[in-house]
Amino acid sequence: MPRSARLRWSTASELLRLVHAEPGIARTAACERLALSSGAAAELVERLRGARLLAEHRAGRGGRGRPTTSLGAHPRGPLTAVADLGAGGWRVLLGDLGGAVAEVAAGSYGDRYPAEFLPEVAAAVDAAARGEPGRVRAVVAAVAGAVSGTRLLQFSTRGWHEANLGVLAGGTAAVPGVPLLVGNDATLGGIAEARGGAARGAGAALHLLVAVGVGGALLVGGRPVTGARGAGGEYGHLPFGDPALACPCGARGCWDLLVDGRALARYRGDPEPADPLAYGRDVIGAVRSGTAPAGDRRAVETAARALGAGVAGLVNLHDPDAVTVAGLAPGLRAAAPEAFAAAYRAGLMAFHRADPPPVADAVHGTDGPVRGALGLGFDEITGPSALARWAALPHT
Ligand SMILES: [Zn+2]
Repeated sequence: MPRSARLRWSTASELLRLVHAEPGIARTAACERLALSSGAAAELVERLRGARLLAEHRAGRGGRGRPTTSLGAHPRGPLTAVADLGAGGWRVLLGDLGGAVAEVAAGSYGDRYPAEFLPEVAAAVDAAARGEPGRVRAVVAAVAGAVSGTRLLQFSTRGWHEANLGVLAGGTAAVPGVPLLVGNDATLGGIAEARGGAARGAGAALHLLVAVGVGGALLVGGRPVTGARGAGGEYGHLPFGDPALACPCGARGCWDLLVDGRALARYRGDPEPADPLAYGRDVIGAVRSGTAPAGDRRAVETAARALGAGVAGLVNLHDPDAVTVAGLAPGLRAAAPEAFAAAYRAGLMAFHRADPPPVADAVHGTDGPVRGALGLGFDEITGPSALARWAALPHT
């Protein structure tokens, strides 16, 4: 891609990313934010409408009684397909630049391994792309497990190891040349919180998801820092735990084993639960409702302390402006607020204690990973080179 072509699309890229972050933003507000003159803005918006990248809608009257318009997705604009591989089953969704999302297919895993059901998910992505000819410009796999590049490394709730996710885009005839991006649910949830959730506006944000184990991401300017192969953020496998305990990841003493449903079962003297997430929700729910026996309250307090101490260690490590927590963590904090707060404070280095970063519950909940996946997809689609390629496509 020649430099001149990229430059021609670079302001367009900024405007489209702003519209994706704030769908329906008034044209006047978007121009101010990008320091565009009204003449340059009119020309740019017209070019993006013509290229099927943007639509304008009347939005009543702006300042000084002038009519104003809001900016949103073009009805025939580019789409991101999300293959959501959740703990309980898979879904395929299509999302547009304006944040509208529609589920187009769903299924269960049964007793199958990834190599057996991934072709089914790939066929659903392919069918979705054929249904919207030429529009799907990125495929994002949102995975409830550890990933590296386009490989699934571990899906701990199901005991899956090593599978190639490349089949989700590479082999589909309907989306030739469309990139496949892969993120785990904790990283993608963090993107959603940093861009449009509880950590919005934070320069550096730490996001943690307690599900089966703990995953997360450090986000700088809304972008996750995930290492060379996207496998970073496995916070649960830091040795904050008991060195006597072996973790399914292969390491010992992992933090994972102190804070999730498996930990609660151990503290209560139960065997390891088949579904640690549901088990954790049940125990925490009973403690919050006040119906649980004292032993259960102590178990939840022990997990909340381990969570608070670990979060403090990560604050010492990353120095974030804000921390967001999701999954079981909001419930753990609500069930044992003093235990969490005391351990968080005690674990902070002294200079952090005067003004510790706030810990907030995630606002996106279970739809966070899909929101974050769309963010990742539109980062790709709205890059200057990708926009130049889109504009050169023969649109029918
Ligand atoms: Zn581990």
